[in-house]
Amino acid sequence: MKIGIDIDGVLADQVSAVLKEIEKDYGRRYSKSDITRAHWSFDGIEIWTEISRLLSDPEYVMRVPTIEGAQRAVKQLAGHDLMVVTARRPHTEDATRRWLKANFPCLKQYHHARTGTKHSIPCDLLIDDLDLNIVEFVKSDENRRGVLFLHPWSLNDTNILDYPDQVIYCQEWQSIVKAIEDIDGNSGDQP
Ligand SMILES: [Mg+2]
Repeated sequence: MKIGIDIDGVLADQVSAVLKEIEKDYGRRYSKSDITRAHWSFDGIEIWTEISRLLSDPEYVMRVPTIEGAQRAVKQLAGHDLMVVTARRPHTEDATRRWLKANFPCLKQYHHARTGTKHSIPCDLLIDDLDLNIVEFVKSDENRRGVLFLHPWSLNDTNILDYPDQVIYCQEWQSIVKAIEDIDGNSGDQP
């Protein structure tokens, strides 16, 4: 199975890293549970604008921690055709590839896909932390599956519930691995 894996919120604990910087730069302290939607903002500053600004600094990119359980899970999934799929801007690609090499050496395929282009990802299954990306991906082909990695910001009033047969909801990596094993076991590819 060809599996697309999003970086921020799935492999990289981007929100923890950006909240640390927000505390340092603005003296405002927030926790992950405060970030209740994708376009969350504080004092008129949008979190994705901050992330985008910070990602221009290669040293920041290298400081972003991995999501708990991600390294082990990716090793467990290494028998599949794995591809990193990210909306990070192209100028961050070098640093992002260095971060991937350091933390996920078996992930070598890299696909840049902005929001609004997730339907063109060349995969059978996409793991992402935003409902909008999952909806865009699964609605383009009824044979595609999406795994929504649930964080406090993952649900943003999309019609994701219209795709119950295609979308799986997981809160941590081990349940993602289990869900993929189940799909694989039912696909008829196995003896
Ligand atoms: Mg993401």
